[in-house]
Amino acid sequence: MLLTGLTTEELQEWARERGLGAYRGRQLADWVYRRSARSFDVMTDLPQKLRGELASSFIHPALQEEDRSTSPDGATKFLVRARDGERVECVFLPYDDRISLCVSTQVGCAMDCSFCATGIGGLKRDLLPGEIVDQLLLVQAATGQRVTHVVYMGMGEPLANYSATVASIRLLSKEVGLSARRITVSTVGLPAAIRRLAGERLPITLAVSIHAPDDDVRRVIMPAARLHLLEDLLDACRHWCAVTRRRMTFEYLLLEGINDSPAQARDLARRIRGILGNVNLIPYNHVEGRGRFRRPSRERIEAFRAALEESGIRTTERMRRGNPVSAACGQLRHEAESGRKLFAPSGAAGVKIPVSAKVPAPDAGDG
Ligand code: SF4
Repeated sequence: MLLTGLTTEELQEWARERGLGAYRGRQLADWVYRRSARSFDVMTDLPQKLRGELASSFIHPALQEEDRSTSPDGATKFLVRARDGERVECVFLPYDDRISLCVSTQVGCAMDCSFCATGIGGLKRDLLPGEIVDQLLLVQAATGQRVTHVVYMGMGEPLANYSATVASIRLLSKEVGLSARRITVSTVGLPAAIRRLAGERLPITLAVSIHAPDDDVRRVIMPAARLHLLEDLLDACRHWCAVTRRRMTFEYLLLEGINDSPAQARDLARRIRGILGNVNLIPYNHVEGRGRFRRPSRERIEAFRAALEESGIRTTERMRRGNPVSAACGQLRHEAESGRKLFAPSGAAGVKIPVSAKVPAPDAGDG
């Protein structure tokens, strides 16, 4: 059984069942979630015999770092390996006022969006709650920095692994101490799951990938959109805002000649008017193996943005951080599994850092 994924209460119960004080469970949770301990050996305030028993009862850590790639602006993509050998990615994004981590929820993805590297190999398996949370714990230990915001925007569709996604959000907020207000869940847009998520009463931010103002274009670039009408998705978004009273974000990937005309921007504004949210524009970045799309020119991006804003829609544009490392989720895993290099091994375009050269982990006792 994975240690990450268990709550303090469950660890207290485990300790009680062995005739130990419940406080041993609290100590254990403290080491794992708040002091980023990656081995039982560093839990020096636990008796040696207990540490031995823990090692034979639990699997810890859930994930190991396999590789990382850092861009000149400090964004770092980690390739991590689960106990069964499957790999996922998470991306560490330091900003002036925050440190964000983009986490994965599945190994691969069944959604098969036509612009995404993760969808190329299909879905292999869902991640467990502890494997989602351990991405943050691993990165904190590896960088010595505390993550302040988490975005569920890595490999996989979070709402297609619904239970683990919700359980991991509760673990992050209750055990790790990261406010749910600092967590964003990004979805391809599954109406039933969005309605269900609204009922969880989690004060998270919802980001929905809309990517086109009409069903025809959405269905071409996002096969998952064939299962519902855009209007059903927008109804679910209205429900989300009404129940949670929180703003949401519509993610819009700009693809030249496909969804980037001012007329489409005006159509989008008409469709989403009245929903408490803004549009976040994401100019396309080239994805190896998904070569048929192009990034619009700066003029076209600005014209699209102007048409939205003239229609009264608040619009932002995603900062280009970590190019090429954050260019697209799934690229580092794709590289590892195909044996092909997607990033330059060194130089201004991106720097691959061997695992052995990683930032020293903080003294576990300081956490
Ligand atoms: S964009 Fe997201 S939902 Fe679509 S295939 Fe990639 S990981 Fe899956």
